[in-house]
Amino acid sequence: MKIVTDEKRLLGPGPCNVSERVRAALARPMLGHLDPDFLEVMETCKDRLRGVFRTRNAATFPVSGTGSAGMEFLLVNFVEPGDRVVVGVNGVFGSRMANLAEKIGAEVHRITAAWGEALPLDGLKAAIDEHKPKFFGLVNGETSTGVYQSVDGLAEAVHAHGGLFALDCVTSLAGMPVEIDARGIDLAFSGTQKCLACPPGLAPVTVSERAREALARRLRPVPSFYLDLNEILAYINGSGGRSYHHTAPISMVVALTEALAEVLEEGLEARWERHAEAARYLTAQFGKRGFTPLVAEGDRLHPLTTLRLPEGFDETAVRKRLLVEHGIEVGAGLGPLAGKIWRIGLMGHNARPEVVDELLAAFDSGTP
Ligand code: PLP
Repeated sequence: MKIVTDEKRLLGPGPCNVSERVRAALARPMLGHLDPDFLEVMETCKDRLRGVFRTRNAATFPVSGTGSAGMEFLLVNFVEPGDRVVVGVNGVFGSRMANLAEKIGAEVHRITAAWGEALPLDGLKAAIDEHKPKFFGLVNGETSTGVYQSVDGLAEAVHAHGGLFALDCVTSLAGMPVEIDARGIDLAFSGTQKCLACPPGLAPVTVSERAREALARRLRPVPSFYLDLNEILAYINGSGGRSYHHTAPISMVVALTEALAEVLEEGLEARWERHAEAARYLTAQFGKRGFTPLVAEGDRLHPLTTLRLPEGFDETAVRKRLLVEHGIEVGAGLGPLAGKIWRIGLMGHNARPEVVDELLAAFDSGTP
């Protein structure tokens, strides 16, 4: 087995590179999961997550599992068989959410747009008014296409019919505005390996009071042990009386707590601007090399840029060369966009012009 010790530059759809500070946190001595010192870390982690999500929701914490566990957590707790669900689908992750709701037995309505296009707000509002969903799900940053979905005015439409608005913030959180409370979002999940710049392994989630009231009105028990919100809360919230539910991934929680400190010290606005600037620079520089943006300017997901490839470009060979010769990873297209685009992630500490220059130098070194 090859043990990799040299750091690669991770410019794909995630994970991204992690700072020395987060790596050091990951390597701290092990604590017991009910040790008061760890409980303090967990409280700090929850507080910092509230800061990054911009929410006052008490139920804000990291689910043990990757981003998909966060998605599944929202669906198993807040969707029951027969519930009406509307999901915006314009890429892999909206499709995953809709399929999961179907597995639970919900009546699912998919509102679709072409891959690379945002879902029009008036179409989404019309679908909400027509179907009156109990659960309305959207992907804020569609990592398969590089689209950042606006959510303006949607919460009001969903709430008018008594529904819950759920947002996948895996690629947007800490890279672009999410603003849970200001936008009236009831439920959200993220992942640690994107703009939070932490290894993969946890799914930060937040649950509003409205959503918790809806949970209390469920007709059937939550069909999961591991992801049952009430069971998890008794474990991570019960001050003085925490009851064992599962063994929290201690080192990951410690690392995430440190990564969140980095985000909050920088400031969310400054971080969003840094991601925007790096993406603009990347797009302009690759434009000079024949790559064109897939997504219209106002709809671009800054942490993940999708670029159409120049005519006749051997994308597999060049990606391989970048990785093998330069230790730089960039992402390929998925589904209908396979072989047509590159997905270049400038997430967390990688959202800097120097990193783009590093990629360009490597790219140009093989161009005749
Ligand atoms: N949602 C989005 C938008 C994603 O980009 C991802 C992962 O890339 C996920 C959900 C699933 O997260 P994970 O792969 O960490 O399970």
